[in-house]
Amino acid sequence: MTDLVPNTPFEGITLALSKGRIFGETVPLLARAGISPLVDPDTSRQLILPTTRADVRLVIVRASDVPTYVERGAADLGVAGLDVLLEHGGAGLHQPVDLCIARCRLMVAVPQGFDYEGAIRRGARLRVATKYAALARAHFAAKGVHVDLIKLYGSMELAPLTGLADAIVDLVSSGNTLRANHLVAVEPIADISSRLVVNGAAWKLQRARLAPLVQIIEQGVIEASKGEPS
Ligand code: ATP
Ligand code: MG
Repeated sequence: MTDLVPNTPFEGITLALSKGRIFGETVPLLARAGISPLVDPDTSRQLILPTTRADVRLVIVRASDVPTYVERGAADLGVAGLDVLLEHGGAGLHQPVDLCIARCRLMVAVPQGFDYEGAIRRGARLRVATKYAALARAHFAAKGVHVDLIKLYGSMELAPLTGLADAIVDLVSSGNTLRANHLVAVEPIADISSRLVVNGAAWKLQRARLAPLVQIIEQGVIEASKGEPS
């Protein structure tokens, strides 16, 4: 069929990004490297975005799909939250740079007034709703707490409010969403920020092709941390 868009060969570097907060916080770092998308993903339906550098393009994927694209070489580089990388496993991915963006914490949260410590002391079996099943399982196993994990794909906060779960494991930044839903964070699991990821094999075999861009992004992070204007 000739009307299908072909898998056009692209000789340059492909960077996988998710829309929303990661895109918004990565764009200024890329701008320091002279790379700006020529298309706004919020107003365009395009998923492959050319940039001001002809040898660099962005592909827009779901946050949890970034490791898959990079692992399988469909993208050379990607930006993914540590939450996504830990849950995915991150095998075959090299993480050269902590971009220090999209910072938050993975936490256990319960309804206000729920005696979490007491429930654990009593050896109660907790029903925990989360999208981070692997991370939550490892966390509670390490504590020796018995849990029934309930895998959800969105709005974890709703689970305790409707009686679906006793607790949730979710990302928290300001805490506003928890407060608005009468929940309180009771235990940290991990400090999260977004990482630049590179295909591990490509990092070994194509270092000369990828390293300059990685270095320039890393430099941008260092400058941003010093508060220098972009
Ligand atoms: P989708 O909405 O498609 O299910 P998602 O919820 O994973 O995907 P985002 O909400 O944009 O997508 O989150 C992307 C990443 O941003 C997360 O993996 C995490 O690393 C980070 N993040 C999520 N929530 C917060 C937050 N409240 N504060 C800071 N960073 C966050
Ligand atoms: Mg989200």
